Amino acid sequence: MSSRIDWNSIESKWIERWDNQRLFESDPDSSREKYFVTVAYPYPNSPQHIGHGRTYTLADTHARYIRMKGYNVLFPMGFHYTGTPILGMSRRVAAGDSELMETFHTIYKLSDDIIATFVEPVKIARYFHQEIKKGMKEMGYSIDWRREFTTIDRIYSKFISWQFRTLKKKGLIVQGSHPVGWCPRDQNPISQHDTIGDVEPDFNEYTVIKFKSSDEGRRGASSSNSGADGPIVDDDSSGVIILPAATLRPETLFGVTNIWINPEVEYVQAKVDGQRWIISKEAARKLEFLNHKVELVNAFRGSEMIGWKVINPLNDTSVPVYPASFVEANSGTGIVMSVPAHAPYDYQALETLKSDNNIQQMFCVTIDENSIHPLKIIESEPYEGSIPAAEAIKQAAALNQKKNDHELLEKATSNLYSHEFYKGKMMQNTGRFAGMTVAVAKNEIKQDLLNSGWAETIYELVNKPVKCRCGAECVVKLLSDQWFLNYGDKEWKEQAHLCLGNMDILPEDIRQEFDYVIDWLRERACARKSGLGTTLPWDKEWIVESLSDSVIYMAYYIIAKYVNNKNISEENDNITDAFFDYVLLGAGSPDKVAKECKIDSYIIEHIRNEFNYFYPVDSRHSGRDLVPNHLTFFIFNHVAIFDKNKWPRQIVVNGSVLMEGKKMSKSLGNIIPLRAAIKEYGADTLRLAMLVSAEILQDADFSFDTVRGIRSKLAGIFEMAEKCRNMLADASEQGQGNQQQQPKQTLMLEDRWLASRLQRTIAETTTSMDKLRIRESIYYILYSLDRDLQWYMKRATARKRENIAGMLSEFLNIQVRMLAPFAPFTAEEVWELLGNRQYLTAEHWPVLEEKKIDIVAEESEFLISNLLADIQNIVRVTKITPTKIVIYISAVWKEQVYRAILANILNGTINFGQIMKQLISNPETVKAKTDPKIVQRMAEDILSAPLDARNRRLKLAGFNEVTTIEDAQALLSNEISKAEIVVYSEDDPARYDPKLRAKSARPFKPAIYIE
Ligand SMILES: [Zn+2]
Repeated sequence: MSSRIDWNSIESKWIERWDNQRLFESDPDSSREKYFVTVAYPYPNSPQHIGHGRTYTLADTHARYIRMKGYNVLFPMGFHYTGTPILGMSRRVAAGDSELMETFHTIYKLSDDIIATFVEPVKIARYFHQEIKKGMKEMGYSIDWRREFTTIDRIYSKFISWQFRTLKKKGLIVQGSHPVGWCPRDQNPISQHDTIGDVEPDFNEYTVIKFKSSDEGRRGASSSNSGADGPIVDDDSSGVIILPAATLRPETLFGVTNIWINPEVEYVQAKVDGQRWIISKEAARKLEFLNHKVELVNAFRGSEMIGWKVINPLNDTSVPVYPASFVEANSGTGIVMSVPAHAPYDYQALETLKSDNNIQQMFCVTIDENSIHPLKIIESEPYEGSIPAAEAIKQAAALNQKKNDHELLEKATSNLYSHEFYKGKMMQNTGRFAGMTVAVAKNEIKQDLLNSGWAETIYELVNKPVKCRCGAECVVKLLSDQWFLNYGDKEWKEQAHLCLGNMDILPEDIRQEFDYVIDWLRERACARKSGLGTTLPWDKEWIVESLSDSVIYMAYYIIAKYVNNKNISEENDNITDAFFDYVLLGAGSPDKVAKECKIDSYIIEHIRNEFNYFYPVDSRHSGRDLVPNHLTFFIFNHVAIFDKNKWPRQIVVNGSVLMEGKKMSKSLGNIIPLRAAIKEYGADTLRLAMLVSAEILQDADFSFDTVRGIRSKLAGIFEMAEKCRNMLADASEQGQGNQQQQPKQTLMLEDRWLASRLQRTIAETTTSMDKLRIRESIYYILYSLDRDLQWYMKRATARKRENIAGMLSEFLNIQVRMLAPFAPFTAEEVWELLGNRQYLTAEHWPVLEEKKIDIVAEESEFLISNLLADIQNIVRVTKITPTKIVIYISAVWKEQVYRAILANILNGTINFGQIMKQLISNPETVKAKTDPKIVQRMAEDILSAPLDARNRRLKLAGFNEVTTIEDAQALLSNEISKAEIVVYSEDDPARYDPKLRAKSARPFKPAIYIE
C-alpha cells in the first residue's frame, strides 16, 4: 500500500494550493485574536540537515495548532547573515579547507562552480538562504513569506542603528574594560556562534595571591640538583621574587600549609608589571591578554623550586614548596596554594607525598605526620571532623560511583566548596575574620589583599579548550575601550526578572536556568572588527555583533512587509530614528515622521497599527543552547526598549536531535541534508519522526525504525480513508434507488463507544497540546486512536456489518484534524479524499462534545475486551479447543456490595475489616457475610482496576452485563474457535453449571466455564 502513495507529489500539490490561497498570510483583523509565533532565524552558512529541522517543525506545528484554534497566527521567517560564521566559512573556502570541501561535495552535493563563488561571504549567504527557504517550503512550514528579510538589508540596518542609539541613550551601552572570549588570530571577541561546536566561552574570575620568596627562603633549600646559580637571575636589588597562586577561595588562605608546583613543567621568571614573578610559560601568555606588561627573563623546570620557602601575605607564615603532579601548566598560574583541610585535591596530594619515600628522596625533602598537617579554618555542619576535605572525599566515594580519582575529587571539591560557601563560618584562628560567614570573609580578604597589592585578579576559561571557527584556540582578553551592553546593570536585571516572572516558559523546569543567567550575565561586548552587519552608529570602526543584532528583530517582521511590497523604498535614505520611534514606540506624530522620512503618513499609521495588533511576541521557539545568550538577551533588550505590554509572553526551549542515538557530526558521517531526506522519506514522516521520540526539552532520537513505523501508520490512515470513501460512494448509490427508505441508523454499542473514545481523545490531546507535550499528543492521535479503531473494526467485522461508513468518516474526520498540525500534507490529502471542499489547514481543531461521552458504552467495551482476554488466557493454559463457552453474570446482591466497597475505597478506606463491618451493618448489603471470600476478591478487583474505571463504575447504577455480553457473542465466538457462547445469571435456576463455577462470578468479572 505505502509503496503506491506518491508522497512527494502530494506535497507539491498542497504547497502550490496553499500558496495560491495565501493561507499563511496574516494581516491585522480586529474580529480575531492574534497569535505571534517566531523561531530563531537560521544562519545561511550551510544547508539545513535533519538536526536543524526539529525546532522549526515544532514551531510550525505550534503555529498550525493555534491557527486551527481560531487565532490569527503570524509565523514569519528571516535570515541571519550577520556575524562571523559566514565570514569564517568563506575564509575556509578561500584557503581550500579540505574537510569543508569534502562536506560540500559528499554530503551536500554542491558543484565546484557554486563552491568557487563562496570566497565572497555574501554569495554563501544568498545561496544557502534560497536552499533553506526551499527546504522550509517542502517541509510544509506555514510561513508568511511576505515578511522575509535578511540582516544586511538596508532598512534592517537602520532598525539596528535605532536599537543601538536607543540603548545608548538609556545608558545601557557603556565603554570600558571587561574580559571577553577572544580569538588571538582574528583579533576579535568571540561568543557561541563564532566557535567550533557552538560553545559559549565561559570564564571565571580568580584571585591571584602573591607569595613572596626571599633570598633566605631560597638558600634554605637544598640545591643539589640545580645549577650553580639556581634558576633565579638576580637583576633586581630587592631580591624579592613572587610565586603567585590563583584561587577561587581566597578565604582559605589561613589554611595554607604549602605551595604546589609540578616538577615536570617549564616555568619562567618574568617581569610582570615590574615585579619578578615565577609562573608557567602558558600563564605568562595569558597575562599578556589580560593587559599585564610581561617580559620573560629565563626558563627552568619546576623541580628547581622544591624546598623553597615562601611567605603567606595574610599572616606572614613561612610555607614550603612541594611537588605535585596534578598541577597543570595551563591552569591558573601553574602555582597552587595548598589548603589540605578544605581542598580535596590538596589533601590527596599531601597524603600521597607523605607516603612516597622515593619522591621525598628524589627532591631531598622529608615530609611526615609531624612536619605538616592540614589546618582547619572553616566550620560547617556536616563536615564535623578535623579535616573537612577528607570527609568530603569519603562522602563522595560513598554516594557516587565515580569512575576515577579525578571525578571523585572534582565531586568532593564542588560539594565542599558550595557547602562551605553557603553554610560555613570562619574559625577563631582567622584573626579579625573569625565568626564571619565564608561568603563575607571571601570578599573582605580578597579586597584587603587587592588594596594592599598582595593580590591580582585574572580570568580563566572554565570550558577550555574553546576553538574559534578559524581554528585558533580562544583565550580570555581584557578588552579596553570596547563597547559593552551593560547586562550587569542592577535595575535592568530587575526588569528582566519581572518580565520572566510573567512569562510562560516551556517546559517550566528550565525557568530557573533563565533566572540564573539573568543574575550571572555581566557586561557583554556588542561589536566586532570584522564580519557582515551594521556598523556601530557612533563608531564606524566597529560592526554590531551577531548576537546583539538579533534580539528584537521580531518587531521588524511588521516593517519588512511594507519594504517588500515597496510601500517603503529600500533606497530611502531619509528614514531616521523618528520613524522607528513612532511605529514601534508610538512616540512623535505620524505627520512629522512622514515629512522627515518621506513616507506616506497613511503607510506610517498602518505600520503602527499592525505593530500594535501583532506585538508582543506570543511564543518564541529556540534551542536549549541559546538559553545563556540569545534567549536571555531577547528578554533584556525587550524590557529595555519596549513598554510592558509589548514584552514577550512565552519561550519554548527545545533539545537537540540525535541520529540513531549518536550525536550528528561530520566526522561520524551521519548528517542527512533535510531536502534529501524529504525526497526519500516524505515531509510528514520526517516531521513526525523528529517530534515523536521526545518531549520538547529532551534530546530527540531520529531513527529509521521510527521513520518506517510512522510511514506505515500514515499509509494506514490513507488506506482507511479510501475504504471509507468507497463505502460512502456505495451507500449513496444504493440510497438513490430508494431515498425515502433510508431510516436514521441506530447506533450499535461499538459505535457509541468509538464516538465516546474520540471525544476523550480530543480532550486529552487538547490538554497536551496546550502545554506543547508533543510526544504525548502524537501518541494519542496516531497510536491510541489506532488501537481504538482496531477494536471497533473487530467488533463490526464479527457482526458482518456494512453500515460503518458513517462512523469511520466521523473517526477519520477527527483524527485527521488533530493530525493536521503534525502531518499537514497527509491530513489535507485525506481530508479531500473524504469529500471535504474546504482546506483542512483553515479548519478548526475539533472541540469536545460532552454529549457524546458514553460511560455505558465505555464500560461495555471494557468488560468485553477483559472477558475476551480472560477466556483467551484460559484457552492458552488449558490447551483445549472450546466448543462451548458458558459465562455467568454475578447475582444482584453482589452488585450492591460492590458499589458499597467501591464508594469506601474511593473515599480512602481500604481496611477490609472496616469495610466488612459496614457492609454487614447495612440491610442492603448484609448478604456480604454469606461469602466473605468473594467480598474480599471484589475489593481486590477494585484495587487493581484503573482509576478511570473505578470512577466510572460508581456512576454506573444498574449496568446490564447480560445484554452487554450477549451483544458481543459474535465477537467472542469469532475470536475463539467459533465456539457457542451462552450467558446465564448466577442465580438462574435453569443454568448449565456442571463445575459449579457460577458462584465465583463478581460484578464486572463474570465467571467462565469452557468445554
Ligand atoms: Zn579565529
